[in-house]
Amino acid sequence: MLLRFAALVSAKQEELAALEARDVGKVMKSTRFDVSILIRYLEFYGSGVDKLLGSTIPTVAGITALTLHEPHGVVGAILPWNSPTQMFGRVASPALAMGNSMVIKPAEDACLTVIRLAELAEEAGIPSGVLNVVTGLGIEAGAALSAHGDVDFISFTGSPEVGALVQKAAADHHAGVTLELGGKSPQIVFADADLESALPIIVNAIIVNSGQTCVAGSRLLVEESAIARISERFAHRFNELVAGSHEGDYDLGPLINAKQHRRVCNMVAAAKSENVPLLGEGTIAADSPGAGFYVAPALFGPVPRDNALARREVFGPVLSLLPFKDEADAITLANDTPYGLAAAVWTRDGSRALRVAREVRAGQVYINAYGAGGGVELPFGGFKHSGHGREKGIQALEEFSATKTIIIRHG
Ligand code: NAP
Ligand code: MG
Repeated sequence: MLLRFAALVSAKQEELAALEARDVGKVMKSTRFDVSILIRYLEFYGSGVDKLLGSTIPTVAGITALTLHEPHGVVGAILPWNSPTQMFGRVASPALAMGNSMVIKPAEDACLTVIRLAELAEEAGIPSGVLNVVTGLGIEAGAALSAHGDVDFISFTGSPEVGALVQKAAADHHAGVTLELGGKSPQIVFADADLESALPIIVNAIIVNSGQTCVAGSRLLVEESAIARISERFAHRFNELVAGSHEGDYDLGPLINAKQHRRVCNMVAAAKSENVPLLGEGTIAADSPGAGFYVAPALFGPVPRDNALARREVFGPVLSLLPFKDEADAITLANDTPYGLAAAVWTRDGSRALRVAREVRAGQVYINAYGAGGGVELPFGGFKHSGHGREKGIQALEEFSATKTIIIRHG
């Protein structure tokens, strides 16, 4: 059924990409990519579920023991507005593959594609009642879902504050919880890095979806000896960036809503008023609707280590440059936020890359790369305040199931 669902989504790829662009405000090249990742999720879990093996366990003589992966039962999913299509794929594909039924609560600001996907699921033959979408505000529908005694497991992606509320509500009925709560992910650039290949990848990691991604690479940590050269190159690139309507061919679109726009503009204004140097700033396209939630991408640096821009998630196209002295200092600085979702190490020294990758507290660490084409196959999740539990990869099949052990006494 999931493979049939994938084929239906493929046939509607352009329709879904346009719907998501209109709903979220993302540029079409982003939403086309998002839909392609959804298809990959459906195919990966649709064809991967029969490769998840149980085990046989050596124990006392006369006993044979084995494990099975069984569904939790009802999985509740609370989704954010930043990438509803990808998030649907990430949670629904493994949860349905393992035989759970689901109630999905999309974000009220971006629920159109999720509703459309529920229609396509039915068309693909997923029995009615197995995949349910309930819209409504978080404080009503989301809170009711997390508190509901018939929900056995909850997957939440969003803010740390609401994640804690969801986990507390789930505790009252002992439901398992996966929380994915964002980050302040570092790009650690050593002086010997291949800057030509790093620069476009690092810039993309902070402007994609206008910085509204949990894995936004929002801190650019640069070895002191290379600061002048690297600042100049990044400043130049930031000055060229243009934000504009999702219908135009711009580098980034608007933010999702007025609240998010205010939040990002306030953080940028605060940094300027605190005299944090602005190294580079893009522009907003002249033909953009005046009332749109556009933000010009900004590069600040050097950002003091205790400044909000060095520690707090902006969730907008704002990159903070911070200098470090040496490898040990880079590791300290990389770990110096409450978050631990993703990180990257840029260097030509392979041993150093691996040493740093081992020391950084983050669920995914890239070496001379950032992002891996959606990363469907790669276990993903947070350390520290970025959350707990793992989604994506084969590991998600384990997360969305419970292990049952069968013990047979045969003498
Ligand atoms: P949020 O409030 O945490 O929203 C995430 C989801 O939780 C939405 O579906 C929301 O519903 C729902 N929700 C809200 N209150 C709830 C409650 N009391 N009980 C259960 N569910 C509830 O996030 P936001 O306010 O939209 O964004 C605020 C910040 O969160 C952002 O600036 C960003 O830092 C972070 N964030 C992170 C991610 C991520 O990918 N990790 C995604 C989004 C936001 P409604 O929106 O429909 O009310
Ligand atoms: Mg909210």
